[in-house]
Amino acid sequence: MAMKITTGTSELRDITKMERIGVHSHIRGLGLDDRLEPRESSQGLVGQAKARKAAGMILKMVKEGRIAGRAMLFAGPPSTGKTAIAMGMAQSLGEDVPFTSIAASEVFSLSMSKTEALTQAFRRSIGVRIKEESEIIEGEVVEIQIDRSLTGATKTGKLTIKTTDMETIYDLGTKMIDALTKEKVLAGDVIVIDKTSGKITKLGRSFARSRDYDAMGADTKFVQCPEGEIQKRKEVTHTVTLHEIDVINSRTQGFLALFAGDTGEIKPELRNQIDTKVSEWREEGKAEIVPGVLFIDEVHMLDIECFSFLNRALEGALAPLVIMASNRGMARIRGTKFKSPHGLPVDLLDRVLIVSTKPYVDEEIRQIIQIRCQEEDVQLTSEATDVLTSMALQTTLRYALNLISCAQVLAKKRKSESVDVEDLRRAYTYFMDEKRSVQWLKEQQGILMFDELDGHEDAMDTT
Ligand code: ATP
Repeated sequence: MAMKITTGTSELRDITKMERIGVHSHIRGLGLDDRLEPRESSQGLVGQAKARKAAGMILKMVKEGRIAGRAMLFAGPPSTGKTAIAMGMAQSLGEDVPFTSIAASEVFSLSMSKTEALTQAFRRSIGVRIKEESEIIEGEVVEIQIDRSLTGATKTGKLTIKTTDMETIYDLGTKMIDALTKEKVLAGDVIVIDKTSGKITKLGRSFARSRDYDAMGADTKFVQCPEGEIQKRKEVTHTVTLHEIDVINSRTQGFLALFAGDTGEIKPELRNQIDTKVSEWREEGKAEIVPGVLFIDEVHMLDIECFSFLNRALEGALAPLVIMASNRGMARIRGTKFKSPHGLPVDLLDRVLIVSTKPYVDEEIRQIIQIRCQEEDVQLTSEATDVLTSMALQTTLRYALNLISCAQVLAKKRKSESVDVEDLRRAYTYFMDEKRSVQWLKEQQGILMFDELDGHEDAMDTT
């Protein structure tokens, strides 16, 4: 069925709701106070105090623009909030600080080389804040600043522009100042300036409210006049990413590719040209770099070529903060026969700030469950909360959180408003956690297809 794009409010509400209950949608920030101390439970995050504080410190440096080319690694067991804290960081970044999130395996699945995919991810995470002088548009109200030396006045006022021609506007500004000094024009008066002779006629305040005033065309030279000097141009800033500049300037892609998402490979020469242009803009004061954040989840899934690319890219003049997450202990570095902590080569580990996350205690899990229930609009009885907490301790937090909505479906089936222990128990029998799944596989002994042989752990390795 063709997708329907609509602005109808009901559809919009549905979409908002769908977004609202994403896996990390309860997270609104890092939950730190002004001194970067973590509150026990705040902005959707619970516990994990050290890691949150460390994240807050790094974030502060990012905001101050002091941390280009650095990398940090969240290392810890599954479901200990590594991604959640990274999401909290993203929420706390300023509006125009770019945040890109990828899973390492995406690098292999795109229709481009691994290094191109990583380069694009890097350049998506670097913002260029461009300052532009805006064109004054017809009908726009422009603030006027008083020139004290001319009038001795301190008032400010507004000037309604009825022309889009900048020269005319500057001209009017100058003439207006003449008028202010010679003709004693007051704020709110309307003056008409003859285009050729420059003669100024004062029409009085009431004229501004008359039909004649409305009837005057866009090219009529007149101003409704307060005292002062026209502020010639307004400055506006907007931030785009380096990747957006690349795509817009790429002859083979064109800016429409930005909407399609499939931007293909971009030539290195083009990127060089763009970097040169951006550094020119910086020198001229027209632009500044906003180093953003690139989050790479499951970073151990990258291979040795990607790691050496990262090492080099982090040294570049334009590099974002790279946050990585891994739940591996000693693991093989993909593409090699060697093992290393978290599956990362030691030279990369050496330049990374490592932050560990630890398993949660009962009370923290209980609070996270309660936050998720609120987020998903699910009522859980207090006995059910106890049971789900102990399920989370025996399996994983993620499994327990997944059970919430499944149990709600079962509760609804028995026409109950709240989820009780029996709903959880039934959901638990329907859906296996990882441990039970492994146990079940063992019991099936070879009935499933493609059992891998011992010692062939590299069989799936694309490298
Ligand atoms: P993995 O190594 O398996 O990728 P992870 O450490 O990245 O795990 P998350 O995905 O962050 O784990 O956490 C699992 C779920 O628990 C998510 O829904 C997450 O939002 C939630 N969660 C984890 N930690 C916290 C926390 N401290 N406060 C609130 N919610 C949390």
